[in-house]
Amino acid sequence: MDKARLNDDQLIEKIRAKKRELGSQLIILTHHYQRKAIVGLGDFVGDSFELARKAAADRECRYIVFCGVHFMAESAAVLAKPHQVVQIPDEEAGCWMADMADSETVKSAFEQLESLAGKGSTIPVVYMNSDAGLKAFCGDHGGLVCTSSNAEKALKWAFGKGEKVLFFPDRHLGHNTGHDLGLAPEEMVVWSPDKPFGGNDPDALRRARLVLWDGYCLVHSRFTCEHIEEKRAEFPGAKIIVHPECTREVVAMADASGSTSRIEKFVREAPAGSTIIIGTEINFIERLASEYPDKKVLDLHRSLCPNMFKINLGKLSDTLENLGEMNVVRVDEEIKASARVALDRMLALV
Ligand code: SF4
Repeated sequence: MDKARLNDDQLIEKIRAKKRELGSQLIILTHHYQRKAIVGLGDFVGDSFELARKAAADRECRYIVFCGVHFMAESAAVLAKPHQVVQIPDEEAGCWMADMADSETVKSAFEQLESLAGKGSTIPVVYMNSDAGLKAFCGDHGGLVCTSSNAEKALKWAFGKGEKVLFFPDRHLGHNTGHDLGLAPEEMVVWSPDKPFGGNDPDALRRARLVLWDGYCLVHSRFTCEHIEEKRAEFPGAKIIVHPECTREVVAMADASGSTSRIEKFVREAPAGSTIIIGTEINFIERLASEYPDKKVLDLHRSLCPNMFKINLGKLSDTLENLGEMNVVRVDEEIKASARVALDRMLALV
């Protein structure tokens, strides 16, 4: 069969045949933001925490094909067993937020904070949306990784170890979680990586408990309070749920917030006939709308993650035809060992 001429149905059949052939040797992990057809072919769909757990738990399979963005596949490669190979169907599927922090500038921020507050004062907490080097930094400096489904537990853990937390790269998830933990606004400051002391007064930094890296997700920071006002006027009685990567103002105005898995649960448990308006990535919302036809599931505003969208049936099929060879995700062994420490601390959170 000429690959260039395969339509979607033929590609789906080809992928299914490959899955049947490989059986338990292959596992396809898919993030909630993937295209519906990709999710339909996955062995497991979840948020980044669930996918990391799945990658860490599967001992049998030889090939892990990760349909998500690069930092997720990289985390799976850190957690994989030595006999396992992790591949991503498109190596260019990155994440803008993950690119907003790098090891050099985070190290410099951490050192500046310790110079003000003393050695051992600051615990680094990195959002999953980051490269393995940043996770390794946390592993080496008494910190851990978190995702949007366990950020509260991770921050509590960190505050049990040090007086301050340096949280990166997503300021909004950090701010929303700090608020939920009862931190006062003056206890949280934003760190601009290109300015000395992150652009803060040293006394304000000494008083701060949570230092928030000035990074954000362009998909989620697009949602505004005006979008919520408009939808409430149009759909009185609707429930609005947003992702915690949205700004504090948007989260405060919504009825609920949570990770993609929490959003899925919110829709699943809503009574039939209800209207649910969601502030997150559009592919996920459209899939939920088709899976729960007894409810009206709408977007707060159309916002697509082009990075997640890069993976398609053709690229997944090509990857499966080149198992162990194409787009293999590799992580330096030293970085892997340290990143694993930070990921294991997250996986051990109860
Ligand atoms: S939705 Fe935002 S944080 Fe998630 S992968 Fe896309 S750019 Fe990154």
